[in-house]
Amino acid sequence: MRFQVLTLFPGMFEGPMSESIIARAQSQGLIEVSLHDIRDHAHDKHRQVDDYGFGGGPGMVMKPAPIFEAVEHVKSASSLPDATPVILLSPQGDRLDQSSVERLATFQDLVLICGRYEGVDERVHQHLATEEISIGDYVLGGGELAAMVVIDAVARLVPGVVGSTESPANDSFTTGLLQHPLYTRPAEFRNWEVPEMLLSGNHAEIDRWRRHEALRRTLAHRPDLLERLSDDLLTEEDRRYLDELSREHK
Ligand code: SAM
Repeated sequence: MRFQVLTLFPGMFEGPMSESIIARAQSQGLIEVSLHDIRDHAHDKHRQVDDYGFGGGPGMVMKPAPIFEAVEHVKSASSLPDATPVILLSPQGDRLDQSSVERLATFQDLVLICGRYEGVDERVHQHLATEEISIGDYVLGGGELAAMVVIDAVARLVPGVVGSTESPANDSFTTGLLQHPLYTRPAEFRNWEVPEMLLSGNHAEIDRWRRHEALRRTLAHRPDLLERLSDDLLTEEDRRYLDELSREHK
């Protein structure tokens, strides 16, 4: 999978893209992260990429021409299919969640445009980006961290990127629930013991315990996830357990 990132600050990607899972995935040829400096597509004397906003007000706006040209250049230089998503990172976009990450992971290429300053010219929103993604209801200084979040989350789903020891299948949200609690050695740490069930060796009972804990956590911290969960993802036993928890709570 190829991530084509358009940014004014390619250097910001150096650390996060050269460590751990993402670095390994690149060296194994499973993913490719290409950084393109938008400023290389500004052709005036000062290579200006921003300008005052029409109508006044504070803050500079990113000019459309360098961004359009950068996307067009990347598309033709890398022979990207027409259907390649061109994603503008923006606090005004659709909020990223695990199901959108799963959808993005089905593409061979993604183009990610990182905004800066007060934002980008509206014509980029309307006529260049095929979608806008926000990583949450807060405003960042630029789209670079948001692009890295998208790359990290999507790359984990590319086959082979995450080893079996870190399998994403049981992750929070992938199952529709928050993940069950995790413990490692020692079995007792500062008088806090690992739940006995996990030491029992009875895998069926351990799975049941984990499922119950996942349901308990989700109900406590993210009841909205349970409300959105499609019916077929909850078993009869899950429902009984949730009823029990609600009765306990009352
Ligand atoms: N003035 C804009 C607004 O109110 O919507 C915010 C501009 S922000 C300071 C600059 C850039 O950071 C945006 O163009 C976008 O690329 C990026 N950005 C900020 N918050 C983001 C978020 N929550 N998700 C994705 N990108 C974000």
